[in-house]
Amino acid sequence: MTMEVPTRIVRNQPTSDPSVSLDVPMLKNRDYQHKVFVNRSVTLENIKCYGFDMDYTLAAYKSPDYEDLGFELLRDRLVSIGYPHELLRYNYDPTFPTRGLVFDTMYGNLLKVDSNGNILLCSHGFTFLKRDKIHDYYPNNFIQRGNTDRFYILNTLFNLSETYLYGCLVELFTRCSRYVNCQKGFKYGDLFMSFRSMFQDVRDAMDYVHDTGVLKESTLKNLDKYVIRDPNLPVLLTRIKEVAKVFLATNSDYNYTEAIMKYLLETPPGAKNPKKQWRAFFDLVVVDTRKPLFFAEGTVLRQVDTNTGKLRIGTYTGDLQHGTVYSGGSSDIVCDLLDVKGKDILYVGDHIFGDILKSKKRQGWKTFLVVPELAKELQVWTEKSRKYKHGQPPLHDLSDPNTDVVTYRMDLSYGQMGSLLRSGSRQTLFASQLMRYADLYSSTCINLLHYPFSYLFRAQSVLVSFSLDMHVIINRDMHLLFHQIPC
Ligand SMILES: [Mg+2]
Repeated sequence: MTMEVPTRIVRNQPTSDPSVSLDVPMLKNRDYQHKVFVNRSVTLENIKCYGFDMDYTLAAYKSPDYEDLGFELLRDRLVSIGYPHELLRYNYDPTFPTRGLVFDTMYGNLLKVDSNGNILLCSHGFTFLKRDKIHDYYPNNFIQRGNTDRFYILNTLFNLSETYLYGCLVELFTRCSRYVNCQKGFKYGDLFMSFRSMFQDVRDAMDYVHDTGVLKESTLKNLDKYVIRDPNLPVLLTRIKEVAKVFLATNSDYNYTEAIMKYLLETPPGAKNPKKQWRAFFDLVVVDTRKPLFFAEGTVLRQVDTNTGKLRIGTYTGDLQHGTVYSGGSSDIVCDLLDVKGKDILYVGDHIFGDILKSKKRQGWKTFLVVPELAKELQVWTEKSRKYKHGQPPLHDLSDPNTDVVTYRMDLSYGQMGSLLRSGSRQTLFASQLMRYADLYSSTCINLLHYPFSYLFRAQSVLVSFSLDMHVIINRDMHLLFHQIPC
């Protein structure tokens, strides 16, 4: 695995579309923010088709405003079904949650674990537990994460506000004198509220917020606040369409997709010709895909009436029609309609399970994972690197016998739950899945613009895989910072 730095940037590639500006900055050697990272080699020249997810992939949501909105809707929903009004005092704190945490529905703890289920960090409410306390809950410092009935993985960016809400709820009930703390929940008079029932209420509230459309409605009312409109997105899609087929496969419904894609593609700031319809950027648009089901048996394929947003009855059986929007279907149907094979597709998505793991495992597609948090992770890492290089001592005190505290202090630079990718020098579950299923990954799909479409993303052959490219560099430049810390 290696970090790819293109030796030659092709600028101002010819394009037939006059509506897009082609001023794409060149990559500097250490311009990590714009890099595409490689787990397995991918030759772009051989890619005949690019597929994109929409939410958090083409449509990047503004953080923390969007998570803040999600949190408020969830919190208010819980209060409306009977949770204490004190809950309204909590506001979203982006420094608390990290994606990929596990919620233990038996004990109400939030856990950061590695790929084997070893516990790296554990919080009860907002209290981080010390090793002996963790041991009381989990005698082997380990969870059977395959026990999905009990352990719920908060894998997606949509789960961030939910993660914080679990922290708030456990904190609120633990501190409130009206409730008696028990191992598996709280007592209030004759009532017992288990962590399990609290979890179920939050899950139901998540469904309410997503299924009733309240989150979408609030987003569409204030697109400038919640959605990043990058003028390079139409540039990227235009360029790709000149060399390959392009499709959009989103779980969102047609009306929401139409509003978001119009905003992103039809009115880019400074565009000379904003009249090009968003659908013209794609060879195929499929909404309501129900991923991960889409990558298996899928659902019935229907046509969408783009005038009304309603579905046509019956199953669509004809050839691909340009400008037509489809609903449902499956990845097999997409391959048939576009006349491409799985190995010729590079699929770009942000959901490690629904987008990347399933498309890779079940269909053999090449995969590109969008990890928006990488921007912050790389920023923190480069700042640490710079400090170290300029003679400042490493952040930790090597004589400190409490290595957990050392690791924890270092990780605080990323947020209270630490890095998305590791805890000290140990890799998180998320990082191990990223390495296993994402051929390429970057903080945004727009970073593909920095590479010519003939580019070979080459993975470095290594005997033992390091946890991340960053660690390769850390080994070379600043190994003291991480590798002198016993785990
Ligand atoms: Mg998505």
